[in-house]
Amino acid sequence: MNINADTELYCLIGNPISKSLSPLIHNFIFEHTSINAKYLAFNVNNSYDLEKAVAGIKALGISGFNVTIPYKIEIMKYLDEIDEKAQILGAANTVANINGKLIGYNTDGDGFIKSLKDQGIDIRGKKAAIIGAGGAAHSIAVSLVYEGIKELIIINRNLKNAEKLQGFVKKIKSSVYISCCNLDEVSIIPNDVDLLINTTPVGMYPNIEDMPIFPSLFTSKTVFYDIIYKPENTKLILEAQKLGYRTINGLDMLVNQAIYSQKIWNSKLSNEDLDWAVIKKKIISIIKNQILK
Ligand code: NAP
Repeated sequence: MNINADTELYCLIGNPISKSLSPLIHNFIFEHTSINAKYLAFNVNNSYDLEKAVAGIKALGISGFNVTIPYKIEIMKYLDEIDEKAQILGAANTVANINGKLIGYNTDGDGFIKSLKDQGIDIRGKKAAIIGAGGAAHSIAVSLVYEGIKELIIINRNLKNAEKLQGFVKKIKSSVYISCCNLDEVSIIPNDVDLLINTTPVGMYPNIEDMPIFPSLFTSKTVFYDIIYKPENTKLILEAQKLGYRTINGLDMLVNQAIYSQKIWNSKLSNEDLDWAVIKKKIISIIKNQILK
């Protein structure tokens, strides 16, 4: 696509951003949907530069942007409006610039839930266990609660952080039964959880032989979801597959959260323009063949 005076600009801000797959995903979507726009990644060195970057985005009329580590929380103070989920989480990963007004959203949890639904998994009234209590765990826990999960077990290396997440989720919906434990206390985790989600970096490249928990502690009822996408299938996923258990890897969530950002930025796109299943399949294939090989 030709770049001309009408080309809109979208971008990612964070630090580091050199390994980000967002430019690949969003530029593919712009090409695929014939939107005259480009997406770049900008490394923002520190908080002082973040303020200046936001002022620059406004001054130049950059149409929208994503925010990644370490600015998902800090960006909130520069936003003019914040949608409900981002407000609850206190973190935004997607910002739309509407006539100079910056509106913040968080699409991480929605991307996760969409991948469950695409697999026909209904988690209403079910029991899930989350390993980890960081940013991704917060987004996922809040989304699970919104979707009607009945019971949540938070398993984390640092028990205090698990308890903090427990308190956070309880405030959103007190009727959800939530417990937490340390990663060393796996013997007390019930083996009948419907969904086990790894949100820690354990097993991520280059430490691909690591695993946060043994799948053999669970039964074939449990679906294993690892949000790591490099490698595409972590040791946790491969070991669960060996036992015949159902698994989902992190690529699905990664692409879904990006498509949700596009839907926010380009609300006029119809479902036919942005055919989710087709776009996701093509992007995942490009990532697998060009990046993860
Ligand atoms: P984060 O906020 O830093 O949280 C990391 C969590 O993992 C913390 O609970 C931490 O425990 C735990 N942890 C870290 N190292 C550990 C270790 N060696 N052993 C046991 N636990 C450990 O990170 P995040 O933003 O939530 O991201 C976590 C992972 O999710 C990353 O691998 C990231 O790439 C992936 N991710 C994927 C997607 C996607 O779209 N697929 C989206 C977001 C994130 P403590 O509390 O004890 O420190």
